[in-house]
Amino acid sequence: MASLSTAVLGGGISGLSAGYYLLRQFGKPLTIYESSPRVGGWIRTEKHRDRSFIFESGPRTIRPKGLAGANTLELVEQLKVPIKPILSSHVAARNRMIYAKGELCMLPNSPKGLFSTLPPFTQPLYKALWHDLITGSTPAKHDDESIYSFAERRFGKEIADYAISPMICGICAGDAREISVRFLMESLFEKEQKYGGVLKGVLYSRFSGGAKKDSAGLFAQSQPALYSQACQEKWAMYGVEDGLEQLPRALRKYLGEHDVNVQLSTECRSLSFNNNGVRLQLRDAEVPVEHVVSSLPAYKMAQLVKTQHPSLAAQLQAIPYVDVVVVNMQYDSDELLQREGFGLLVPPVEKLPLLGIIFDSCCFEMAGNTVLTVMMGGHWFNQWFGNRPTQKQLLDIAVEYVRKILDIKEAPKFSRVHTLHQCIPQYTVGHKQRVEGIRRYIKTYKLPLSVCGAAYDGVGINDVILSARRQVEALQPVSTA
Ligand SMILES: Cc1cc2nc3c(=O)[nH]c(=O)nc-3n(C[C@H](O)[C@H](O)[C@H](O)COP(=O)(O)OP(=O)(O)OC[C@H]3O[C@@H](n4cnc5c(N)ncnc54)[C@H](O)[C@@H]3O)c2cc1C
Repeated sequence: MASLSTAVLGGGISGLSAGYYLLRQFGKPLTIYESSPRVGGWIRTEKHRDRSFIFESGPRTIRPKGLAGANTLELVEQLKVPIKPILSSHVAARNRMIYAKGELCMLPNSPKGLFSTLPPFTQPLYKALWHDLITGSTPAKHDDESIYSFAERRFGKEIADYAISPMICGICAGDAREISVRFLMESLFEKEQKYGGVLKGVLYSRFSGGAKKDSAGLFAQSQPALYSQACQEKWAMYGVEDGLEQLPRALRKYLGEHDVNVQLSTECRSLSFNNNGVRLQLRDAEVPVEHVVSSLPAYKMAQLVKTQHPSLAAQLQAIPYVDVVVVNMQYDSDELLQREGFGLLVPPVEKLPLLGIIFDSCCFEMAGNTVLTVMMGGHWFNQWFGNRPTQKQLLDIAVEYVRKILDIKEAPKFSRVHTLHQCIPQYTVGHKQRVEGIRRYIKTYKLPLSVCGAAYDGVGINDVILSARRQVEALQPVSTA
């Protein structure tokens, strides 16, 4: 296939994946520009060798399910990255908790749980499904709405407050009252709009054979072997041996071995488009290429194009981001947690600075240590922490809530506080149209530019890798005749 001289902006997981797929599809010449001195972006692992535990300041687990899950597993398989599956029977997969009304509440994890009244809910959960069944079609068809209002309309306020809102905190540190229903429940929303109810829609499409096969179209031959294994063995999620940062590192190594230049500490400062392609303005050089794939956060990308394309910059800037505090803590004993599980989430109606606590040492073996990660802030960062909270203030708050919620009275032996500024994009109501608008602008003005990464097509690792793949596969090779 004819080559296409391409630059990838950003050496996070999405940019590195874009590099991988570009190499596979077009070969070289190809350079990845990363402004920081390391690859991985928000994926960052700190390993304490003498004590055999790790701290993750960003993601720690990946879900194997669906098309996007299968795609990541294909990449993991091709890179030979050693992974650590968590089966669906594992305690970390089965036990998920919320902290509400002053107590730690286990969420139901079997169909039986639908028929009992479990705190903080005041009635059995099957009644929420019944509510959906008897609540008819909405009078006016919606194109989008908040996930909170959708859940409240279909399943009632308790489900919106105690199931959906904390889940949104856990996934994107956001406020369910602002996040688009299309972010997580697009297919349920569309079924409701079409059939007048979620349950009705699910049942109808099941019986009419409407459910699509997951991986259709993506894989040339058969499904990746690891994906088949994950389905067979019922993996709920998986991590990476020695921490998730091994994945971007493996990608970088692979790219290096195939002569792809990954230039660290090289910030792209602006882009100028012309008839022959695009010129990248770096600190001390200008580089012409035929095409740019950007995996940068939308607000950073806006800065690069604002002089030549202010209206595109405004559309990119309209995607909001939130700040998250991540506090990693290690304790010497492994007998501190009274209940085991993946961790707990805190519903925003509780009005606490916490988003949730992850029980890392329940998910993965940590050699006799208890390791916890407290997440705080998100959409409510400024409200709780103001402009410049100190690390000590943040650690004290995290320790206080660990004591209060988990009854762990001792102080952690090791801890790390990270304030991750503008780390998670918020897919607020109208996000899908905003992204369509951005890509339409690029197409209309025939800009040699593709955008991928967490700002556009989903915020999970699977989503950003698939986003990179789809953007690369949509590119046309340049004829060299
Ligand atoms: C605290 C936290 C926990 C998470 N947990 C999970 C989880 O458990 N599972 C999961 O699936 N997902 C999780 N996520 C989401 C996932 O980590 C991210 O969506 C993903 O890492 C984003 O990757 P990316 O490549 O799109 O962006 P980024 O990681 O933001 O990478 C962008 C890169 O671009 C670089 N850059 C910026 N500006 C420039 C410039 N001008 N020139 C050159 N380079 C530039 C940056 O330095 C960065 O390296 C979590 C995210 C956070 C923040």
